[in-house]
Amino acid sequence: MITLLLLPPLAWALLLALYAKRFIALWHEPVWCCPVLVIESDDWGAGMLSQAAALDDLRQLLNCHCDHTRRHPVMTLGIVLAIADTEAIRAATDRKYLSIVLDDARLAPVLTALRTGIVEGVFAPQLHGMEHYWPAAVLVAAQTDKRVEAWLTGDTLPRTEDLPSPLQSRWTAATVLPSLPLSISEINEAVATEARTFQRIFGMTAQVAVPTTFVWNDEVERAWSAHGVRCIVTPGMRLEYRDAQGRPAGDGRKILNGECGQNDVLYVVRDQYFEPALGHCAEQGLAALARQTACARPTLLETHRFNFLGESASVAMQELNNLLDKARANYRTLRFLSTQEIAEAMAHKDTELIETSLRPRLRAWLVRIHILPRFTKLARFTGLVWPLRLLGKWAA
Ligand SMILES: [Zn+2]
Repeated sequence: MITLLLLPPLAWALLLALYAKRFIALWHEPVWCCPVLVIESDDWGAGMLSQAAALDDLRQLLNCHCDHTRRHPVMTLGIVLAIADTEAIRAATDRKYLSIVLDDARLAPVLTALRTGIVEGVFAPQLHGMEHYWPAAVLVAAQTDKRVEAWLTGDTLPRTEDLPSPLQSRWTAATVLPSLPLSISEINEAVATEARTFQRIFGMTAQVAVPTTFVWNDEVERAWSAHGVRCIVTPGMRLEYRDAQGRPAGDGRKILNGECGQNDVLYVVRDQYFEPALGHCAEQGLAALARQTACARPTLLETHRFNFLGESASVAMQELNNLLDKARANYRTLRFLSTQEIAEAMAHKDTELIETSLRPRLRAWLVRIHILPRFTKLARFTGLVWPLRLLGKWAA
């Protein structure tokens, strides 16, 4: 009889021990006081001139919406600072990499559109990379891959989206698979150049970096941090290379909001998606906002420029407009912030945005632990669900 009575507490202790590390990490993850929404859009910058009209349309759309503090929604733009100068590469007597940088006169319409949105406060530039690839790796790949050769020597401004996927990772040499790491000196030199270029073009230090294809490593973090980057956007993990099949791969360790990497660079998690060209409607964005808000987390919606260019553009604009309309209607206290502001609020524990009192933190923690893989099932099976419900009642 006594053994039977002891069984549930023993099972609970076992379950708690099994999840202890993740429970503690979730307890330390900042708890947001209000729903937060930011549209994170990558791949803008050096490239096709058609971006200028798309950016103007986006800027006007964002200007039509406000949160309850009268703040417009912010679209953070992952900026690519340079692109292959295909004309110059073709004309050169020997094959070498030459590029057009975003402040080249030929790209003036794009830079003007970007700057206008930044001044209006609806765009926030973030560092995506000098290029969306490692130029030396693309040059080597072009020797044996006709598609890459054609990409590098075509007669228009190339689209980085058209490169073979492994080559779109900047911080690994994907000329062979699995890809090879870059040397520390190569990384340091490349980061110094991109940080300097970002500063020159936008008149500000790049404080938020979004690694291309989310492949980066400690050396990149250290170099970025040395040049002023304070925050790295992650999908909740770090990928470090391309595996034998060309897929991004890493150690699989989970990353939560507010955790720190090398030199205290702060991670912000972006793991929700809004890609209308792939069939996502406003509803998917709203569902993501609901999920994140239930967990007292900010909603960073990932979207790419390809949605807003070409055939999908009008549908994408309409869905974005619907999303912003409904988000505001569904959440009276919704805040539109930039990713840099989100990072700063977490770093400084800004009490206007971040909860410090016990009960709201406990409520968020209870929601978060229940979405851990298999935990809810095991909590029900062992009966741990009952003391957790009591805890939830107390925190309500
Ligand atoms: Zn990208």
